[in-house]
Amino acid sequence: MRHSRPSVPSGRVHNIINMTTFAVLGVGAIWASRQGMISVTQVQASHFALAYLAGTFLLSPDLDLSEGRVNSKRNWGILGPLWVPYGMMFSHRGLSHSWLLGPLTRLVYLAILGAIVIGVLRTVWPEMALPAFPEPLEWKVLLPATLGYFLSQWLHLIADGIRPDHGLRRTRRRN
Ligand SMILES: [Zn+2]
Repeated sequence: MRHSRPSVPSGRVHNIINMTTFAVLGVGAIWASRQGMISVTQVQASHFALAYLAGTFLLSPDLDLSEGRVNSKRNWGILGPLWVPYGMMFSHRGLSHSWLLGPLTRLVYLAILGAIVIGVLRTVWPEMALPAFPEPLEWKVLLPATLGYFLSQWLHLIADGIRPDHGLRRTRRRN
Protein backbone atom coordinates (compact mmCIF):
# COMPACT_ATOMS: atom_id res chain seq x y z
CA MET A 1 0.00 0.00 0.00
CA ARG A 2 1.32 3.41 -0.87
CA HIS A 3 1.62 5.59 2.11
CA SER A 4 0.85 9.18 1.41
CA ARG A 5 3.60 11.76 1.61
CA PRO A 6 3.33 14.06 4.59
CA SER A 7 2.12 17.40 3.32
CA VAL A 8 4.83 20.02 3.06
CA PRO A 9 4.00 23.59 4.06
CA SER A 10 4.08 26.15 1.27
CA GLY A 11 6.30 29.22 1.39
CA ARG A 12 3.32 31.27 2.56
CA VAL A 13 2.64 28.92 5.47
CA HIS A 14 6.32 29.03 6.46
CA ASN A 15 6.18 32.84 6.44
CA ILE A 16 3.06 32.86 8.61
CA ILE A 17 4.64 30.44 11.12
CA ASN A 18 7.89 32.40 11.26
CA MET A 19 6.25 35.81 11.53
CA THR A 20 3.80 34.64 14.22
CA THR A 21 6.72 33.29 16.25
CA PHE A 22 8.58 36.55 15.61
CA ALA A 23 5.68 38.59 17.00
CA VAL A 24 5.32 36.32 20.04
CA LEU A 25 9.08 36.54 20.71
CA GLY A 26 9.01 40.32 20.33
CA VAL A 27 6.13 40.75 22.77
CA GLY A 28 7.73 38.22 25.15
CA ALA A 29 11.10 40.00 25.02
CA ILE A 30 9.53 43.40 25.69
CA TRP A 31 7.55 41.97 28.60
CA ALA A 32 10.56 40.13 30.07
CA SER A 33 12.80 43.18 29.81
CA ARG A 34 10.14 45.38 31.48
CA GLN A 35 10.10 42.85 34.32
CA GLY A 36 13.86 43.10 34.52
CA MET A 37 14.22 39.40 33.64
CA ILE A 38 16.39 40.00 30.59
CA SER A 39 18.27 42.97 29.26
CA VAL A 40 18.43 43.33 25.52
CA THR A 41 19.97 46.37 23.88
CA GLN A 42 18.37 47.91 20.82
CA VAL A 43 21.41 46.95 18.75
CA GLN A 44 21.15 43.30 19.82
CA ALA A 45 17.41 43.27 19.14
CA SER A 46 17.87 44.76 15.68
CA HIS A 47 20.64 42.30 14.75
CA PHE A 48 18.48 39.42 15.89
CA ALA A 49 15.49 40.78 13.95
CA LEU A 50 17.42 41.49 10.74
CA ALA A 51 19.02 38.04 10.71
CA TYR A 52 15.69 36.39 11.51
CA LEU A 53 13.89 38.24 8.71
CA ALA A 54 16.72 37.54 6.25
CA GLY A 55 16.58 33.86 7.23
CA THR A 56 12.84 33.79 6.75
CA PHE A 57 12.46 35.67 3.48
CA LEU A 58 15.85 35.60 1.72
CA LEU A 59 17.74 32.54 2.92
CA SER A 60 14.99 29.95 3.34
CA PRO A 61 15.94 26.26 3.06
CA ASP A 62 13.56 26.08 0.08
CA LEU A 63 16.14 27.93 -2.02
CA ASP A 64 17.10 24.37 -2.90
CA LEU A 65 14.18 24.65 -5.36
CA SER A 66 15.68 27.72 -7.04
CA GLU A 67 16.18 25.94 -10.34
CA GLY A 68 12.42 26.41 -10.56
CA ARG A 69 10.00 28.89 -9.08
CA VAL A 70 10.02 29.38 -5.36
CA ASN A 71 8.99 32.22 -3.05
CA SER A 72 12.36 32.75 -1.42
CA LYS A 73 14.04 33.13 -4.82
CA ARG A 74 11.37 35.60 -5.95
CA ASN A 75 12.09 37.72 -2.87
CA TRP A 76 15.54 38.41 -4.33
CA GLY A 77 13.94 40.23 -7.26
CA ILE A 78 16.26 40.60 -10.24
CA LEU A 79 19.00 38.87 -8.23
CA GLY A 80 16.85 35.72 -7.95
CA PRO A 81 18.61 33.87 -10.81
CA LEU A 82 21.85 33.99 -8.77
CA TRP A 83 20.31 31.20 -6.66
CA VAL A 84 19.69 28.85 -9.59
CA PRO A 85 23.10 27.12 -9.19
CA TYR A 86 22.32 26.58 -5.50
CA GLY A 87 19.03 24.93 -6.46
CA MET A 88 20.86 22.72 -8.94
CA MET A 89 23.55 21.76 -6.41
CA PHE A 90 21.23 20.79 -3.58
CA SER A 91 18.41 18.30 -3.83
CA HIS A 92 15.16 19.40 -2.26
CA ARG A 93 15.05 18.63 1.45
CA GLY A 94 18.49 17.08 1.37
CA LEU A 95 21.57 18.64 2.96
CA SER A 96 19.98 22.07 2.53
CA HIS A 97 17.36 21.00 5.07
CA SER A 98 19.75 19.73 7.73
CA TRP A 99 19.89 21.62 11.03
CA LEU A 100 23.51 22.76 11.18
CA LEU A 101 25.11 22.37 7.76
CA GLY A 102 21.99 23.39 5.83
CA PRO A 103 21.86 27.00 7.09
CA LEU A 104 25.65 27.22 6.69
CA THR A 105 25.52 26.15 3.02
CA ARG A 106 23.41 29.23 2.25
CA LEU A 107 25.74 31.57 4.14
CA VAL A 108 28.79 30.12 2.37
CA TYR A 109 27.02 30.34 -1.00
CA LEU A 110 26.10 33.97 -0.28
CA ALA A 111 29.71 34.74 0.72
CA ILE A 112 30.97 33.18 -2.53
CA LEU A 113 28.44 35.21 -4.55
CA GLY A 114 29.59 38.36 -2.73
CA ALA A 115 33.25 37.55 -3.39
CA ILE A 116 32.55 36.99 -7.10
CA VAL A 117 30.62 40.26 -7.38
CA ILE A 118 33.39 42.19 -5.59
CA GLY A 119 36.02 40.45 -7.74
CA VAL A 120 34.23 41.42 -10.95
CA LEU A 121 33.69 45.02 -9.78
CA ARG A 122 37.33 45.29 -8.77
CA THR A 123 38.45 44.06 -12.18
CA VAL A 124 36.22 46.50 -13.99
CA TRP A 125 36.88 49.35 -11.58
CA PRO A 126 40.15 48.85 -9.69
CA GLU A 127 39.90 52.08 -7.66
CA MET A 128 36.56 51.06 -6.18
CA ALA A 129 36.47 51.57 -2.43
CA LEU A 130 34.99 48.59 -0.63
CA PRO A 131 32.31 49.35 1.91
CA ALA A 132 33.73 48.76 5.37
CA PHE A 133 31.81 47.06 8.12
CA PRO A 134 30.14 49.84 10.11
CA GLU A 135 31.50 48.49 13.36
CA PRO A 136 33.86 45.74 14.43
CA LEU A 137 32.07 42.40 14.39
CA GLU A 138 32.10 41.20 17.93
CA TRP A 139 30.25 38.42 19.64
CA LYS A 140 27.67 40.85 21.03
CA VAL A 141 26.60 41.44 17.44
CA LEU A 142 27.29 38.00 16.05
CA LEU A 143 25.49 36.09 18.79
CA PRO A 144 22.02 37.66 18.36
CA ALA A 145 22.42 37.56 14.57
CA THR A 146 23.39 33.87 14.67
CA LEU A 147 20.49 33.09 16.99
CA GLY A 148 18.03 34.97 14.79
CA TYR A 149 19.23 33.29 11.62
CA PHE A 150 19.30 29.75 12.97
CA LEU A 151 15.96 30.11 14.75
CA SER A 152 14.29 31.19 11.49
CA GLN A 153 15.82 28.15 9.76
CA TRP A 154 14.90 25.68 12.48
CA LEU A 155 11.27 26.81 12.54
CA HIS A 156 11.16 26.06 8.81
CA LEU A 157 12.62 22.58 9.39
CA ILE A 158 10.25 21.86 12.29
CA ALA A 159 7.30 22.90 10.10
CA ASP A 160 8.64 20.58 7.38
CA GLY A 161 8.67 17.77 9.96
CA ILE A 162 12.44 17.38 9.77
CA ARG A 163 14.24 16.18 12.86
CA PRO A 164 17.63 17.45 14.05
CA ASP A 165 19.29 14.17 13.07
CA HIS A 166 18.20 14.63 9.44
CA GLY A 167 21.01 13.63 7.14
CA LEU A 168 22.85 11.74 9.85
CA ARG A 169 20.84 8.62 9.31
CA ARG A 170 20.41 7.08 5.93
CA THR A 171 16.78 7.60 5.26
CA ARG A 172 16.54 7.73 1.54
CA ARG A 173 12.98 7.47 0.55
CA ARG A 174 11.79 7.29 -2.96
CA ASN A 175 8.82 9.46 -3.66
ZN1 LIG B 1 11.41 23.25 3.23
